[in-house]
Amino acid sequence: MTVRLIPLALRFPPIYGNKKYRTGIILAKSLFELPPTASISIDGDTRVFPINRIFCVGRNYAEHAAEMGNTVDRSAPFYFTKSLQSVSHGQSHIRYPTGTQNYHHEVEFVVFIGEAGHNIPAHAAMDHVFGYACGLDMTRRDLQAIAKEKRRPWDLAKDFEQSAVIGTITPKKTFGQIGPQKIELLVNENSAQSAYLSDMIHSVPNIICDLSEYYTLQAGDVIMTGTPAGVGPVVIGDKLDARIDGLSNLVVTVEP
Ligand code: MG
Repeated sequence: MTVRLIPLALRFPPIYGNKKYRTGIILAKSLFELPPTASISIDGDTRVFPINRIFCVGRNYAEHAAEMGNTVDRSAPFYFTKSLQSVSHGQSHIRYPTGTQNYHHEVEFVVFIGEAGHNIPAHAAMDHVFGYACGLDMTRRDLQAIAKEKRRPWDLAKDFEQSAVIGTITPKKTFGQIGPQKIELLVNENSAQSAYLSDMIHSVPNIICDLSEYYTLQAGDVIMTGTPAGVGPVVIGDKLDARIDGLSNLVVTVEP
């Protein structure tokens, strides 16, 4: 009987990820190339912020929860996610998506994680933040209503191409403390959504603390922190102008 010796390196190829949280992805030659990772420009920096994951907080402003007919859960935030392919950045237009007759705007304060962590205490949470930007959590509201009614996931309503519209990042140290800044969305120059960041039910440190119980947050993770009241439908030709005091405006027009 002959014994074939297979080199150890071939039997056990290297694996991505640190030892504790291995993803199981094997290093080998790819069948095809994927598009580059979505990256966001940074005010005053020639480098870009590469996105790893996108977490979104639901019902984080009381008046918005009320306008959707929902009660507020103050005990803990809840989340849904968007995939990297949903990111739109640096484009002046977004396309009206297929499969909806009720496409809605949601202006949001977006938080960028710059340092990894698991079980992060709230008092240390801000050490993990790199910066902030204006964002739009674009939503197929009719599909979300069906999903809620049928107790299905929200993916079709929330996670589709160009549904995570993200503006230029302002670093944390430039922005300062979160609180009194106004968050507003103008639709065709008219104010549609308006509130203050201090109106958030779950603060940014509390969100990071809570989320990091369930995920090992990584540099590159992004958190969209929920939308104030005033969400509504957009149609082709509408100009959306998202503004948060201290951040770069985010302006996009909806095209066919
Ligand atoms: Mg939202």
